[in-house]
Amino acid sequence: MAPLPQHKIQLDESEMPTRWYNVLHDLPTPPPPVLHPGTGEPVGPDDLAPLFPMDLILQEVSTDQYVDIPDEVLDVYRLWRPSPLFRAHRLEKALGTPARIYYKYEGVSPAGSHKPNTAVPQAFYNAKAGVKRLTTETGAGQWGTALAFACAQYGLACEVWQVRASYDQKPYRRVMIETFGGTVHPSPSELTEAGRRILAEHPDSTGSLGIAISEAVEVAAQDPTTNYALGSVLNHVLMHQTIIGEEALLQLAKAGETPDLLVGCTGGGSNFGGLMFPFLREKWAGRMSPTVRAVEPAACPSLTQGTYAYDFGDTAGMTPLMKMHTLGHDFVPDPIHAGGLRYHGMSPLISHLYETDEIEAVAKAQTECFAAGVLFARTEGIVPAPEPTHALAATVEEALRCKETGEEKVILTALCGHGHLDLAAYEAYLAGNVVDHAWEDEDIQAAVADALSRLPALA
Ligand SMILES: *Cc1c(COP(=O)(O)O)cnc(C)c1O
Repeated sequence: MAPLPQHKIQLDESEMPTRWYNVLHDLPTPPPPVLHPGTGEPVGPDDLAPLFPMDLILQEVSTDQYVDIPDEVLDVYRLWRPSPLFRAHRLEKALGTPARIYYKYEGVSPAGSHKPNTAVPQAFYNAKAGVKRLTTETGAGQWGTALAFACAQYGLACEVWQVRASYDQKPYRRVMIETFGGTVHPSPSELTEAGRRILAEHPDSTGSLGIAISEAVEVAAQDPTTNYALGSVLNHVLMHQTIIGEEALLQLAKAGETPDLLVGCTGGGSNFGGLMFPFLREKWAGRMSPTVRAVEPAACPSLTQGTYAYDFGDTAGMTPLMKMHTLGHDFVPDPIHAGGLRYHGMSPLISHLYETDEIEAVAKAQTECFAAGVLFARTEGIVPAPEPTHALAATVEEALRCKETGEEKVILTALCGHGHLDLAAYEAYLAGNVVDHAWEDEDIQAAVADALSRLPALA
C-alpha cells in the first residue's frame, strides 16, 4: 500500500511571520465606531488610557496594513511557534469523504490554546509602559492561564476573576494560573462593587463573562499601576491572532493547496479572526475564493439569533458601547461545556463582516459537537477542547456533503486548543449526560430588546 501523502506540514522557526495583519486596512466598508456611553461620541485614546497602554490603544484604532511583532514577543512565540498544520487523513478515511481536511493546531502553546498569541504581546506592551499588574476575567480558564504565563515572562502580577461555574467545575486551570504565578478569584466576588451588587441580588449566581469583566475593569480603573487585559473581541486582540492565519497560508502553499472552505468556532471571535483575516485579504485580492464559516453554540447564538446593535461588552455597563451581534449584556447562557463560547456579544469586526456578507455563520448543538470531537480524537489522536468541536462538527457536516456530491473540497479548520483539562466534559458526554439547549427566536429577541432598552439613549 502506498504511504499517505504528508500528514504534518511544518514551518522552520526562520519562516515564522514577523508581522501581524490588520484587517481594518482592507475592509470593503469601515465598521461603525465604538461609542462613549456618557456622550454617545466615538471614544478617543484618552478614554481608554485608564485601562490599556498607549501602544495597544493605537493598535486598536490603527488602519496600517501590518504591524511589526516586537523581537521580545517573537522570542516568546518561538517557545511553541510556528504551530503545525495537519492533513486529517484518518478523519477523512473514517468519513469516506473525497474532501481534503486540514487543521491548524494551536494546542501546542503553553496554555494549550491560541490565547497566548495575544496574551504575550499584551503583557509585553504593558510592561514596556511601566504597568505593574494586569487584571482580567476568564471563563473556562484558558485566557487566565495564557495571561498568567505571559505576565510571568515580563515580571507582571496577574489577577484573574474566573466565572464561578468554571471555578467550581474546572479546578485544574486555576491551579495552572497559580503555577504560572497568578491569583484567581471566583466571580461574582465580594472584592468589587460590581460583584457585591450581583451577590446581593443573586447570592447563588454562577457568574458570567460579562460580570467577571466588570469586576476586572473596576479594579484596573481604580489603580494607576494596574491595567486590564481582554482575551478576545477587541481589534488589537484579533490582530495579534493573525499569526495563525499567516502561518497557515504559508503551510497550505507548501502543501500545494488552495482552500475552498474555512471553518472556525466563535466565542468572542479571536481564533476565528486570527485564522480567517489573512485568507480574507487573499480573497479580496482575487487570489482565492474560499467560503468562510463561523460556528457558534446553539445555546449562545449571538451571530445567528442575536441583534446587531450597540451594547456594552460587560454586564455592569462599564465598557464603551460596541456595535456587535449581541444577546444582551445581561444574558447568562445555560452552563454548556464550551466555556469559551459563552460570551453574550461578538467582536465588532466579526459582526461587521457577517453583516456585510463576507462570512457566514451556523449554530451547532453540543451533543453533535462532542460526537465530532470524539470521532476526531479516535482518528487523529488529539482530544479537542469543547470549543473547536463546534468547528469540527461543521467540518464533518461539510465533508459528508462532499461524500454525497463527490466534490473534492479543501477544508481548513481551526483546532484552537486541546481538551486535556476539559475531560470532565467528555466524561459527561460519554455517560450520556450532556443535553442540548436551543432558543426560540422570539424568546431571545424579547430578552435582547429588554436589555437594549436599558442602555443610555444614543444621539
Ligand atoms: C477562549 C477560547 C475560545 C473562544 O474565544 P474566541 O475569541 O472566539 O477564539 C475558543 N476556543 C478556545 C480553545 C478558547 O480557549
